[in-house]
Amino acid sequence: AQDAPLLEVNNIEVIYNSVILVLKGVSLTVSKGGITALLGGNGAGKTTTLKAISNLVHSERGEVTKGSILYHGERVQDLAPSELVKRGVVQVMEGRHCFEHLTVEENLMTGAYTRRDGRGAVEADLDMVYTYFPRLKERRKSQAGYTSGGEQQMCAIGRALMSRPETILLDEPSMGLAPQLVEEIFGIVRSLNEEQGVSFLLAEQNTNVALRYAHRGYILEAGRVVMEGAAADLRENPDVKEFYLGVS
Ligand code: ATP
Repeated sequence: AQDAPLLEVNNIEVIYNSVILVLKGVSLTVSKGGITALLGGNGAGKTTTLKAISNLVHSERGEVTKGSILYHGERVQDLAPSELVKRGVVQVMEGRHCFEHLTVEENLMTGAYTRRDGRGAVEADLDMVYTYFPRLKERRKSQAGYTSGGEQQMCAIGRALMSRPETILLDEPSMGLAPQLVEEIFGIVRSLNEEQGVSFLLAEQNTNVALRYAHRGYILEAGRVVMEGAAADLRENPDVKEFYLGVS
């Protein structure tokens, strides 16, 4: 249905190594066309939530032991990560993860490997990525390992875009970047959302920036959602101000 939620996470529990309970019943909804922020401090469970959605917890001896994850109303938690990419969900991992020895352009092209819609369409999308990230165009022949932190973050987002995703799970885009660059990257996320219709679920420790760009937010503490709401409301919430925005 048109107004059905895009992604629904219902009361999931995640356990690592069969003993460490990290998510203790997390529920959240990502609506189509929105930017949803997943907030919280170090170790709150943001990355684990994203990895549970994209089915990457297995590779770290983790398991979703309770709850369900639905995409367009269909259960996706048993799908291979590559199958999820085909359905339109792609994750940009924390720490950028570009292939250091490939050029920027080669990195971008690796994002298109699941596509079967021909060279012309892929090249058009490469142009689209360069329109949003002109810096990547300037650096396209450079080895990714020699580009700056900001350029590598852009490269990782650009590579995700090359799979033509409907939803991007973006982990900690601000990490290690100067404030001006953080604004630049969030500004591009907003443009991609508004102009290309890409929905985002982004995990961020930088509550201040995330709540300025997101439409909705969820705050995680020790594996539980402790607060949720419209970003504008969360920005004005006294507890959020005191504990997450550093003003009271
Ligand atoms: P950060 O911003 O540091 O990534 P986060 O909110 O994303 O924080 P997670 O990375 O999801 O938090 O970690 C949540 C908890 O799970 C932490 O206590 C962490 O130590 C633990 N954890 C994460 N990965 C594993 C793993 N592979 N095995 C065991 N415990 C893990």
